[in-house]
Amino acid sequence: MASQEIEALAGALARLPGLGPRSARRAVLWLIKRRETALPQLVEALDMVRERLVECETCGNVDTASPCGICTDPRRDARSLCVVEEVADLWALDRARLFGGRYHVLGGRLSALEGVRPEDLAISGLVERVAAGGIDEVVLAMNATLEGQTTAHYIAERLESFPVRLTQLAHGLPVGGELDYLDEGTLAQALRARKPVG
Ligand SMILES: [Zn+2]
Repeated sequence: MASQEIEALAGALARLPGLGPRSARRAVLWLIKRRETALPQLVEALDMVRERLVECETCGNVDTASPCGICTDPRRDARSLCVVEEVADLWALDRARLFGGRYHVLGGRLSALEGVRPEDLAISGLVERVAAGGIDEVVLAMNATLEGQTTAHYIAERLESFPVRLTQLAHGLPVGGELDYLDEGTLAQALRARKPVG
């Protein structure tokens, strides 16, 4: 039986996406062996995240300031807005500067199965941004999953009455494809070949 401290850390790590109880225990043992080297670095990095990172009130990105660096970057095209499900998708698109506009992070996708409703996502914030004007194009960059497409369809309906061009990623995207896992070439192609919604 492991000590309480080890159980507590393993329990906390096991809640991370992609880490089960077994790999969490292995990570704990790895850290214990490196308590003088890797562990302080991890503690420091976690502290920095806790102290410095905030969610951008405009777009939902995670950064050290709100509004974030992307929202305040004057070189970006404020007339073009790309809607993504998660911050990870924003990062995937932004990694190679594939998109030169700004973003809006929904914080998930509609899901009847998981009980995620429109009001659980940052959809009203999106509608407000579009209603405020100054935006010509909204790119719906949802994942090529059933739920992602349902979400895109719902948002398209909500934005229907505004004078903006609604486009979506070309579905050269593999079915079930999550943006986060796509290589930059595929993502760039899907973005370049984006097409009107409807
Ligand atoms: Zn922002």
